[in-house]
Amino acid sequence: MMKKETVRKSMTYTIDLTKIDGDGAFPCPKCGTIISPDDESEETYQIVETKVKDDELAELMLTCNKCGCTIKLTGFLSQPES
Ligand SMILES: [Zn+2]
Repeated sequence: MMKKETVRKSMTYTIDLTKIDGDGAFPCPKCGTIISPDDESEETYQIVETKVKDDELAELMLTCNKCGCTIKLTGFLSQPES
């Protein structure tokens, strides 16, 4: 039997946190809504998946509530240790 390919309904954007200045807030790549990690009200976005590696956050998948696109946050572990 042939395996059906999964069709992606919405585009996934990847944001590298190491390339973001300031407090980690960034505009949604699609609609421009400012998504702030400090905003825990879930009004602007919802976290759909978190990936943890060695007890540290490695990746975060979230959905923009305004346009519905999926945004993948990476770069949590890329900061050089000081
Ligand atoms: Zn959006």
